[in-house]
Amino acid sequence: MNFYYVTTDEGKRKKFAVGGLKEVYRYERTICPTCKGQCVTPDYYQLFNYKTWNLKMYMSRDHYADFMSTEYLQLIISEKAKKVLTENFGDAVDFGDIEMVSHRDLSAEKLKEIRDAQGYAYAKKIPNDPPQFYRLFLKRDAAIDFEKSGYKLVVDCPTCGYKFYEQPIFEYSVELGKITYTPTVYIIESTWKGCDIFRAEGEGLAIFCTDKFKEAYDQHKLTGLIFSSDYLKVETV
Ligand SMILES: [Zn+2]
Repeated sequence: MNFYYVTTDEGKRKKFAVGGLKEVYRYERTICPTCKGQCVTPDYYQLFNYKTWNLKMYMSRDHYADFMSTEYLQLIISEKAKKVLTENFGDAVDFGDIEMVSHRDLSAEKLKEIRDAQGYAYAKKIPNDPPQFYRLFLKRDAAIDFEKSGYKLVVDCPTCGYKFYEQPIFEYSVELGKITYTPTVYIIESTWKGCDIFRAEGEGLAIFCTDKFKEAYDQHKLTGLIFSSDYLKVETV
């Protein structure tokens, strides 16, 4: 089985839109007294995956792909991508609704906040008629051989059991204008349970897919993803 590492594309000539949150949601949660330094910020990863969360999102531009990210690096997908995924990979995926917010729905105060953070041009490009997008939920499937892949265990909390591995990242040489080092991640094939697009066990946000997923993506001419082995090579053990 061939696996690919998947990242979102920014768009070449015109940058794709990115989703922004209309309301920043703050919530109380129990913080582990030992490793609190690692988890003190609001956990948007968890929140994003609560199906019932009423996510209100505006888009930053009016150029869209089928797969895009949000300010918090989660995947949002188009109506077309949702249909292709449902028909072909129904067991691997689930979706959450998004209330799409248009420029005219944003208060003067919120627009000022966006302008201050991202600039005037950015705020002006928020469309009045954004298409419908959906949150994409992925399962955790195969495990990674962390040691062989050169992952560093940076948090191993004795109190709450939280473990965090830091993924080795590629190196880019400005002088040479190219990537000079690409790490390899080793997926333990016997632990793969059959999802064609998934996140690995204990590995944060990295997304992996199979040949079958890539074929369906190409066949339906979907946009917004990069299947590049320049950033991270994927092999199996
Ligand atoms: Zn802890």
